[in-house]
Amino acid sequence: MNTLARLEPRPVSADAAPTGATLTREGRPSRAEAEQAVRTLIRWAGDDPLREGLIDTPARVVRAYQQWFAGYDQDAGQHLKRTFEEVAGYDEMVVMRDIRFQSHCEHHMAPITGRVHIGYLPRNKVVGISKLARLVQVYARRLQTQEKMTAQIADTLNSVLAPHGVAVVVEGTHGCMTSRGVEQATATMLTSRMLGVFRDRTATRQEFLAALDLRGNIRPVAPLL
Ligand SMILES: [Zn+2]
Repeated sequence: MNTLARLEPRPVSADAAPTGATLTREGRPSRAEAEQAVRTLIRWAGDDPLREGLIDTPARVVRAYQQWFAGYDQDAGQHLKRTFEEVAGYDEMVVMRDIRFQSHCEHHMAPITGRVHIGYLPRNKVVGISKLARLVQVYARRLQTQEKMTAQIADTLNSVLAPHGVAVVVEGTHGCMTSRGVEQATATMLTSRMLGVFRDRTATRQEFLAALDLRGNIRPVAPLL
């Protein structure tokens, strides 16, 4: 069963607008402190962090965190600003589907995996495919809600490219839903952010959604790892 949490375009609150990193490097705990915190969690779970199988785990977890949360050290807007290209006369919709992402929910730090679909109607600037994927990654590699990530991706594209409109749809499977709590193993959450012509013109929005072929046809999302 797929749960269509949201398909209708709806605004996300203003505090979901793109923001920078929250802590400077200097404001963060040391690697040793982070590893100690992992040992505490292992003991909390009921195991012995000093037994052979777990002895290197805190170091591994901290290295994994560096990758999972690398987005805090990256500025998606700055990156896009350096890499857009001018277009002369192309005035059709650009759609990129199925950008895979892995993020972590800010409520449980559980994995969120899924796909992002991006559409925009360029005014005079476009960005390459790899840059859109990179944009997704910068926001995915933070503690997130799916709604906030959807808005951040759309708002950043909108402010950097100043297109006629931006549409972002995110399909996500939430580890905190599939493996704990209500244990809805196959539920998929859908969020969207429509700006400019995608919000104002039904036909444009429909053209985008038709290109995604989402209605009643949401594909299962396999884990990335
Ligand atoms: Zn959660």
